[in-house]
Amino acid sequence: MKIETIAIHAGNHTDASSKAVIQPIVMSTTFVRDEDGEFSSGYSYSRAANPNRTSLENVLAQLESGVEAAAFSSGNAAGMSVFQSLEPGTHIICPDDMYHGLRNQLKMLFAGILEFDFIDVNDSDVLNAHIKPNTGVIWIETPSNPLLKITDIKKVVSIARGRNIKVVCDNTFATPLCQQAIALGADIVMHSSTKYFGGHSDLMGGVLITAEKNDWWQKIRDIQTMGGAIPSPMDCYYLVRSIKTLPYRVRGHVHNAQLLAEFLESHPHVESVMYPGLSSHPQHEIAKVQMSGFGAMLSFTLKGGEEEAKKVVNSVKIFARATSLGGVESLIEHRASVEGPDTKTPFNLLRVSVGLEHIDDLIGDLTQAMA
Ligand SMILES: *Cc1c(COP(=O)(O)O)cnc(C)c1O
Repeated sequence: MKIETIAIHAGNHTDASSKAVIQPIVMSTTFVRDEDGEFSSGYSYSRAANPNRTSLENVLAQLESGVEAAAFSSGNAAGMSVFQSLEPGTHIICPDDMYHGLRNQLKMLFAGILEFDFIDVNDSDVLNAHIKPNTGVIWIETPSNPLLKITDIKKVVSIARGRNIKVVCDNTFATPLCQQAIALGADIVMHSSTKYFGGHSDLMGGVLITAEKNDWWQKIRDIQTMGGAIPSPMDCYYLVRSIKTLPYRVRGHVHNAQLLAEFLESHPHVESVMYPGLSSHPQHEIAKVQMSGFGAMLSFTLKGGEEEAKKVVNSVKIFARATSLGGVESLIEHRASVEGPDTKTPFNLLRVSVGLEHIDDLIGDLTQAMA
């Protein structure tokens, strides 16, 4: 099946008893046992599994061309389960511009338990130089947040293979429509489903999708069940519902993002635009090879510095001045002030999540805000 068909059908089945076309929401936390004590439905208690979560995990696994998915209550919970699954003392290599929520999680919750380095994973020499005997995972995030740097997934995988190092790819910015990280060799793909999967800025969720079922994956499954950082049946239902339109939403987002990036690049107040779909992007060629669309996140810097950047975010009328991404509404934010004191993000940088409004209105709004 093609991805549009998977998105609509792989997370749904007709209800056997009511014949409802859309799978009902099962709110029950507990399930009846057979007389012999078995659970013939396959469900016993909702922390372990719930029919709506199973359907969500089915569609997510197929969208990313993996063998199984585990759904969590947030992207951070999904990421934390990977860290928790590693033996104490394991070394993780992470990008120096890793999503700040996960970077802070490592630094504050895993210091003394895991070893980690935040480096430029796009420089093979730097990457090779940081690999140690106890390196267990190379974490990548591409395109990265907020600088939209591109990591050559195949290249990182080729360095990791043969040394028994796993590659985890945060695919949140790309979505499975734009990048199939498992097909490129990643062992596990991670998403914040709060973003494009949810798509309407009204639910939190996270997911891990695995390329193979092995002991490591089983441990992650155990952490999901025993830790209990699971999404509610309602959230699973809403995610399955939103995912049905994901392919068409992403196409619209990407279309708008390319046009907005081109507009910004030609604007006299703009110093630089970071968008992998622009030929001026330093890794545009890598993006062209490993992505089937360039995503809909972009950042740009202003010649007038932090002062002008703040003036622009305070002058927009259609864009919402807010963090996060992936919703149908466009968002703009002054990123450095979100990321905290140790940020490396330039202070004249604005990050944009390009929504599904008409592109003329988005360009018009930024035109008046930069006037
Ligand atoms: C939002 C985000 C996360 C964290 O996900 P939450 O759902 O907010 O916990 C992780 N990685 C990236 C790239 C994100 O944008």
